[in-house]
Amino acid sequence: TDMTPREVLALCREREIYAVDLRFMDFPGLQKHFTIPVSELTEQSFDEGFGFDGSSIRGWQAINESDMLVVPEASTAIVDPFMTRTLAMTCNIQDPITREDYAKDPRNVARKAERYMRSTGIADTANFGPECEFFVFDDVRFDSSQQHAFYYIDSQEGQWNRGRVEAGGNRGHKIRYGEGYFPVPPTDTLQELRTEIMLRLQECGVGVEAQHHEVASGGQCEVDLKFAPLVQSADQLLLYKYIVKNVAARHGKTATFMPKPIWNDAGSGMHLHFSLWKDAQNLFAGSGYAGLSDTALYAIGGILKHAYSVMAFACPTTNSYKRLVPGYEAPVNLTYSSRNRSAAIRIPVHSPRPENKRFEFRCPDPSSNSYLAMSAMLMAALDGIENRIDPGPPLDKDIYDLAPEELVDVARTPLSLDESLLALRKDHEFLLRGDVFTEDVIDTWIWYKSEKEIEALRQRPHPFEFAMYYDI
Ligand code: GLN
Ligand code: MG
Ligand code: MG
Ligand code: MG
Repeated sequence: TDMTPREVLALCREREIYAVDLRFMDFPGLQKHFTIPVSELTEQSFDEGFGFDGSSIRGWQAINESDMLVVPEASTAIVDPFMTRTLAMTCNIQDPITREDYAKDPRNVARKAERYMRSTGIADTANFGPECEFFVFDDVRFDSSQQHAFYYIDSQEGQWNRGRVEAGGNRGHKIRYGEGYFPVPPTDTLQELRTEIMLRLQECGVGVEAQHHEVASGGQCEVDLKFAPLVQSADQLLLYKYIVKNVAARHGKTATFMPKPIWNDAGSGMHLHFSLWKDAQNLFAGSGYAGLSDTALYAIGGILKHAYSVMAFACPTTNSYKRLVPGYEAPVNLTYSSRNRSAAIRIPVHSPRPENKRFEFRCPDPSSNSYLAMSAMLMAALDGIENRIDPGPPLDKDIYDLAPEELVDVARTPLSLDESLLALRKDHEFLLRGDVFTEDVIDTWIWYKSEKEIEALRQRPHPFEFAMYYDI
């Protein structure tokens, strides 16, 4: 939508709205909200915002300076498809005294990335088209408050986390590992659920290209969104996750965006299709490799050069690196190719039309904070273009099948979140340009991920350690 404050207020009257939900994304990437009665929303609210306590939001203000403002963005207004007579808006975060946009608001990072791009004169629009995969499970009896224990052990199948997901009964009619790509119903049991997701997205003004079951057996799904400019695309992904989870909940199911819930089956990626535009012209269409321009090839050069740092945001969980293994159409090497799905960057060849020219970065996964992941990717691409970074030759063979000696010159994707964060610590100059990612954002990210996730996991006995060591 592209509504003004006045139009939002008119919509509230027309649809007899009584609750206005104010939403924003926290630092690691979860959506948060609070709600006001519609009588509190005036034209001034869109300028003055609403106060809240930012001290309990992960990675944000210290308790002594915790008062913050949410300032609703009229253009993001939707009538919530699940709640009664509720309007929802995505908000920017500001300091109530200085009225400055908050540096650690992920949406602000993304707005600054767009502004910086325009200031370089290279492009006026960065378009992103996400393919965000997820799993739908029937009954995951995982209680996330039980942080010291671990459950899913199915010794019969030698699978650690499967038994609880689809326990018991005749499994003959169920999709087997890696065979989820594209059986019709009744084998595909999630058809209606995905269509409902598609319809709810469209009602909220989000363009959908297609929906389908994915390769993994355990209810893996994908609903592809039409490309949109960076901030809008990241806003739409917030709505996407909200709609997926709520539709699933209404079907008595649960959806997860964790990148690798099931060992031995495909993981969930969030491939990002990317193109830069200026004056309504796609700058990536050209006559080089796979119909790309030099600008596009330099952008690839920049993303491959800074891939580890970008992945600190685009593959930001310990679980992300369990997806990046050979054999599941997830990238394991930092190369580009027009065919090969084992490469980090692929150039789709479906359409000869210049407006469709793009490449997809296949490393990102849905556990990322999309504002930060897209911004980091854009900054790496701009660095590549400004410094004419040569991406080297493409690799058109299936990398999974190459002999080790053929791979010696091919850089691999990082093996762990530690590796990506270590790279980010050293290589983040390109992110600081235009004040897009501040030192504070980088430091807080590394601290949060290292302490709250890597170290927290490292201290806990892992279920597979029971398989390896219980009988020792
Ligand atoms: N699930 C794969 C991944 O992890 C992608 C599969 C596909 O869309 N071709 O990236
Ligand atoms: Mg796809
Ligand atoms: Mg897919
Ligand atoms: Mg793809």
